[in-house]
Amino acid sequence: MLKLETVADLRGHLTPIRRSGRVIGFVPTMGALHEGHRSLMRIARRECGVVVASVFVNPTQFGPNEDFEKYPRPLEADLAACREEEIDFVFVPEVGEIYPEGAVTKVTVSRLVEALCGRHRPGHFDGVTTVVAKLFNIVQPDRAYFGQKDAQQAAVIQQMVRDLLWPLEIVVCPTVREPDGLAMSSRNAYLSPRERRQATCLNATLQWAKESVDSGRRDVASLTAGMRERIEAAGPCTIDYIEVVDARTLDPKTVVTGRCLIALAVRIGSTRLIDNVLVDGGDADR
Ligand code: AMP
Repeated sequence: MLKLETVADLRGHLTPIRRSGRVIGFVPTMGALHEGHRSLMRIARRECGVVVASVFVNPTQFGPNEDFEKYPRPLEADLAACREEEIDFVFVPEVGEIYPEGAVTKVTVSRLVEALCGRHRPGHFDGVTTVVAKLFNIVQPDRAYFGQKDAQQAAVIQQMVRDLLWPLEIVVCPTVREPDGLAMSSRNAYLSPRERRQATCLNATLQWAKESVDSGRRDVASLTAGMRERIEAAGPCTIDYIEVVDARTLDPKTVVTGRCLIALAVRIGSTRLIDNVLVDGGDADR
């Protein structure tokens, strides 16, 4: 595995590989790698001839009162994880390498970023799409791997790739969970033991919602009210949102029809957790 810190270095290594026709897979991350990230790397490793991962805590996707400064950065452990997952190149740039002095260009996907987390984290998805666009231009992958855990991020990036006619495939990989169902996240480390126990209510509630849909419940208002009750019963928290949206467009639904995403963001203590489940509500007139 090679660790590279500059755009020029990474490009220098990837150009001949691309010319040789090998499939390049790319796994962008912010580090503090856990099984969720590693599952993406494993899938990429299986499907691609060469795998590039990046570890970059992207400042532009954090709001002014968010955790950019305290976001965990265990670089040595991250490099060891990449090595274990047989990553070929790990790209670890400084901020100035990605945002050169005087950079003013942003990539914005509209509409989809107004839903769900976009309403609560203004500018967040512009930061994500801008950095992912830059990374795609540097790596020029054939396939890029993202987690279903961040469903809105995956939908926004898929939209960006369609809109900008990018010749690459976005692969969305299943959410990896702790044994008690909590979605793995670098931010879980912020939870106290009591908050950590409480956090299991999120997946339990999503599973309840999925079972409700599977057994015929279609009314979104009653579904989300039931979810809210369950989450509030588990302990003190602030619910940013609980919503049912179209899985592709992220448009809000009032009745569960077709492929829908049931998504939530809940703050437990000072930690904001997100999770989601995909459901299929079938035809509107069923
Ligand atoms: P992050 O480092 O949080 O930016 O995440 C990097 C990539 O890993 C994103 O595509 C995430 O969606 C994905 N990811 C994070 N947590 C999980 C998880 N628990 N299961 C699957 N993918 C995940």
